[in-house]
Parts: sequence; C-alpha cells; structure tokens
Amino acid sequence: MAEPTAVLVVGACGKMGREVVKAVAGAPDLRLVAAVDRSGVGRDVGEVAALGRTLGVALTDDLEAALETSGAEVMVDFTRPEGLLARITAALRHGVRPVIGTTGLSRSEVDQVAALAQERRLGCLIAPNFAIGALVMMRCCELAARHFEQAEIVELHHPGKVDSPSGTALKTAEEIARARAQAAVTPLPTPGAESERVAGVRGGEYAGVRLHSVRLPGLVAHQEVLFGNAGEVFTLRHDSLSRESFMPGVLLAIRKVIGLSGLVYGLDELVFGGEA
Ligand code: NAD
Repeated sequence: MAEPTAVLVVGACGKMGREVVKAVAGAPDLRLVAAVDRSGVGRDVGEVAALGRTLGVALTDDLEAALETSGAEVMVDFTRPEGLLARITAALRHGVRPVIGTTGLSRSEVDQVAALAQERRLGCLIAPNFAIGALVMMRCCELAARHFEQAEIVELHHPGKVDSPSGTALKTAEEIARARAQAAVTPLPTPGAESERVAGVRGGEYAGVRLHSVRLPGLVAHQEVLFGNAGEVFTLRHDSLSRESFMPGVLLAIRKVIGLSGLVYGLDELVFGGEA
C-alpha cells in the first residue's frame, strides 16, 4: 500500500480546523503531521479537536518551521484572509501543496497564487465552498441563468463570519454572469437601489447580480438563489447544517491536489470532471 499523504493543518484550533483534524485522523490514507494555530500552542491537537485520544502532534504557531521539518505534502488552511498569501507562498516555496478553504482572498491575490503554483509546477486548490451540495447548486444556477432574466442571491451565515458577501455568493454570481454571456442572455437591470429609503436595503451588485448577506446566531452556511421571469420564480437553496458537510470535499481536495500542476479555483472541476 502507498504511504499515507502527510497533511499539515493551519487554523487547527478553529471551528473548521478541528473538523479537518478529525477527518484527516479518520482517513487511513492520510496522516496528520503538523498542526499550526495562534492558540493552543504546545497542546496535542487530538485533545483540542476533542477526538478522545492524543495524536502525538503538538500545536505550534511557527508555520515556517512546520513546513520545513514535518515532511508535509499538503497544507490545509482554514484561518483568516490576513497573511494568507504569505502562508500559501511559504507552502509552495517548501514544495507543499496548499488546499485553501479560507475565504476573502482578492482576485489579484488569487492571480498571484496561480502564477506561483505554475512556476513551481505544484498543485494548489482554493475552494470558496467544499460542500458537495453547494457545488451542485452552483451547477444548477448555470442552467437557470440561461433561462431567467433576473437573479438575486441571499447568503446566510453565522455571525462569526468575517467576510461579506461570502466567497460562494461571489463565485455563484460569476458563474451566473458566465452562463448569461455564453447563452447571450441580456439580464434586465436590477431595479430599486437608486430609490432605497434605507441605505443598502437592496443589497450590493456584483457581476450583474444583487447579493444580500444575512448574519444570525443559529446559522451555519446557507445560500438561496432566486431566479425571476414574468409570472414565475425559481428558487435554489443549499444548507450546510454542520461543518461535517465540508469534509468529503476537503478530503477529496487533499487526495487530488497531489496530482495537480498549477492552481485550481473551486472544487467543481474535481467533483464533476467532464460531466455536462
Ligand atoms: P475560526 O475563527 O473558528 O477559526 C480560525 C482559526 O484560525 C482560529 O483558531 C485562529 O486562531 C486561527 N488563525 C487565524 N489566523 C491565523 C494565523 N495567521 N496563523 C495561524 N492560525 C491562525 O473560523 P472558521 O469558522 O473555522 O473559518 C475559518 C475560515 O474558513 C474562514 O475564512 C471561513 O470563511 C472559511 N470557511 C470556508 C469554508 C469552505 O467551504 N471553503 C467553509 C467554512 C468556513
């Protein structure tokens, strides 16, 4: 049997990071070799992730040293956008493939990552959403966008989410715009913002689609996309009810990134392959 793939998790004490630690520890073909976070330094990451056992991996806040000494082949990052480009650059410099779940990278930063991954001939994956259902929803949006004149996106998240709108909402709007352009659909202008009685009540416009961000306790990660034509509305909705929903996608990304060369943005290519 092939050696298990060595994985380093950054943000291992966070809500997503702890779930990734659990998922990696439970996968026989993967091996957790390092865990990085600003908090919990020195503690065993199995204990922090409430695995009920230790993993023999102590948390560190020194990413450079972990990249240098752990033998990691893949770095998974669920942290904050600040300093993310530097972390990705450090990983690629050490020959470690990044799998990035952290949202909030700018388009120009994504372009810089693409150039560096290509130069290094290393796989790199950035995915705004690892939930398979969210990817299916985006695929369905591409079809709907060809047949409806207007669309609005409502994304709903827990109040701890720092970036608005969500990366998934931005990517969905981009996919809708792309599908419209391919099908030569001219969307109707999104009405109403110029006559707002409360500033921002009509949301923000991106790629010709209006976006609305809701932040409420009790929510995890949800998105509704509403398509309208005269006399009909078509609604697509996806709910991530727990962070477990992201793990099949994260594990798939870790396994696939090893065989990639260059940046892949979004998990859809890996999940759907050549499917129409
Ligand atoms: P969180 O606040 O619970 O955890 C973040 C962790 O990262 C914390 O433990 C923090 O100490 C650590 N951290 C922050 N900056 C760091 C740094 N520079 N170096 C090392 N550790 C650092 O957040 P969360 O809910 O786990 O979300 C993390 C990120 O994942 C966010 O950007 C969120 O939007 C994103 N997210 C993505 C997906 C997806 O499918 N792509 C799904 C859920 C969340």
